[in-house]
Amino acid sequence: MDFEAQREHMVRTQIEARGVRDPRVLEAMRRVPRHRFAPEGVQAAAYTDAPISIGWGQTMSQPYIVAYMTEAAAIEPGDHVLEIGTGSGYQAAVLAEMGAEVYSIEVVPALYHRTRALFEDLGLENVHLRLGDGHAGWPEAAPFDAIVVTAAPDVVPPRLVEQLAVGGRMVIPVGRGDQDLRVLRKLPGGLREESSLAVRFVPMVHATGPEQRR
Ligand code: SAH
Repeated sequence: MDFEAQREHMVRTQIEARGVRDPRVLEAMRRVPRHRFAPEGVQAAAYTDAPISIGWGQTMSQPYIVAYMTEAAAIEPGDHVLEIGTGSGYQAAVLAEMGAEVYSIEVVPALYHRTRALFEDLGLENVHLRLGDGHAGWPEAAPFDAIVVTAAPDVVPPRLVEQLAVGGRMVIPVGRGDQDLRVLRKLPGGLREESSLAVRFVPMVHATGPEQRR
């Protein structure tokens, strides 16, 4: 099967079959070439129903989880979206394919540089990347219509709540070990939880050393 046929199969058997129905999300998942975000040598495994190791102890999330988070974030074209944990860049590329202006932060320098080069190669223009600790968010680009967090903090970082627009959605895995993927909406009175799903993401690290601020 060529990559396009594999993507179609992935969308039908892994994503639609598990209940993701938003046609725009399904179309974005059909269009973004997931294998390009997998490291050389494991591209053939890109469309399997599993996360993929991208080095530095990090993973590109399972296709279903990316689709679930994208649907839960309810992205409209032109939305400003913050992603924490750029990693392979795949989730950011799916958000960009939905028509969002994406701001994505990665803490591991090597991953940041690899993904920046890939985005240049793919000609993706509506994704802005930053090297740093996502706990601080990206205040200059706030407020965000949606915030998608792809590494798990112990608690919802307060600065991310501040940078979310009223009416905006945050999709975030919270906790250690087994986590809850929470879908939160910011209302004038505070955050309201809309749903949650059991997941396992890598922990969201605190970067304090100067080597991480480069
Ligand atoms: N969205 C990514 C998933 C990558 S896994 C993808 O589609 O491939 C989670 C990523 O979060 C890792 O790359 C990890 O280095 C990064 N990360 C962990 N803690 C972070 C922090 N405090 N700030 C920014 N990125 C962080």
